[in-house]
Amino acid sequence: MAPIKDEAIVLRRLEYSETSQVLVFFAREHGRQRLIAKGIKRGTKKKAAVGIDLLERGDIMFLPCQRKAHGLGTLTEWRQNDAYLGLREDLRRIYAGQYAAEITAAMTEDGDPHPALFDALTAVLDALRHTVTPKLLLIDYQQALLRDTGLWPDLTRCVICNRQAPEQRAGYFSAHQGGLVCRRCLPRVAENRLVLAAVLTALRENHYPDQTVSETFDLLDYTISQTIGRPTTMSKFITE
Ligand SMILES: [Zn+2]
Repeated sequence: MAPIKDEAIVLRRLEYSETSQVLVFFAREHGRQRLIAKGIKRGTKKKAAVGIDLLERGDIMFLPCQRKAHGLGTLTEWRQNDAYLGLREDLRRIYAGQYAAEITAAMTEDGDPHPALFDALTAVLDALRHTVTPKLLLIDYQQALLRDTGLWPDLTRCVICNRQAPEQRAGYFSAHQGGLVCRRCLPRVAENRLVLAAVLTALRENHYPDQTVSETFDLLDYTISQTIGRPTTMSKFITE
């Protein structure tokens, strides 16, 4: 089989042996790919090789796994296009990048392509290089991820009885139901949380005044956590 070529971002990495790594890539046209990079850390006489780091973007060539389920493919070539150095200068930006990588890996399937989401991820990593407000950028990415995976919640009406949600009012939100739930339907929904009116307005208008940023981030992180069935690991490090 001929190797497949794509562009990819490293979502996870695991040191596999002294010379090899296992990497989870998010490839633009081929989705999440778990690949072993044999000998990637073997240096030459001139330079020591350090392997491939988290959140690097590059061109990959790989041989997909022959067995369908849970196998590793093989990385045959890697050419780094961007190491996002500006992002690595500031711990808050690194954490934000790691959060984006974590939710991407958790919410996508092996081999399922999401080219628009790949572009959104490169855009957020680009923007994180310079930002002083990582949380606001991550809201954009959480939103892109939820939309691209078809899980963006309906914030306009009760998802059970269809009743229009009143504007400028707080509302109950259920991640499992996929949106708002009115008071009348609420007893039927075990998983729910109250969302402030300002946050609902911000999400509907896609405009986030300062005082809504943290609550909005938390709500979207909650939606993602409920979807994957566990709390996200990196969210507690996203402080501003
Ligand atoms: Zn209802």
